[in-house]
Amino acid sequence: MNDYGDEETTTASAPPVYAGHCLCGAIRVCVRGPLAPLVYCHCAQCRRTAGAPFLAVLPVAEEAFTLEDPRRLLGEFRASPGKVRCFCTRCGAPVLSRRDGVPGVRVRAGLFDDLAGVTHGGHIFAASAAPWDDITDGLPRYRELEPGRVTGPTS
Ligand SMILES: [Zn+2]
Ligand SMILES: [Zn+2]
Repeated sequence: MNDYGDEETTTASAPPVYAGHCLCGAIRVCVRGPLAPLVYCHCAQCRRTAGAPFLAVLPVAEEAFTLEDPRRLLGEFRASPGKVRCFCTRCGAPVLSRRDGVPGVRVRAGLFDDLAGVTHGGHIFAASAAPWDDITDGLPRYRELEPGRVTGPTS
């Protein structure tokens, strides 16, 4: 409580929380802000898992992330060594990926209705984009991973 007897100050300064879920709703994720910039991955693996030219990825620190999966529906697939892609085995929605030995998760941004305040970091693995995938916005493009990201074959 501050000098004004106002306890709302504490509440107002709490980091925002963003809730998302898979298509069927069985798997729920929660991310505590502040949010890192979104990255758009154009690698062939993300393209296939998304069924779209690219996958929108939200990098999240371990301590800012929670996942609820009461029915134990989260499945795993390894398309490349050292990296696991997790998805809902009931509805097929991509949920996240993580790299072995690297802290943090890469949550699929499409799970969220609201990511208020998020910024757009750029396109990664732009060199792997499908020939029919035209990147037409002005965001930065990176041949592979975004600067500062631990090196790996895909995102
Ligand atoms: Zn689901
Ligand atoms: Zn990718």
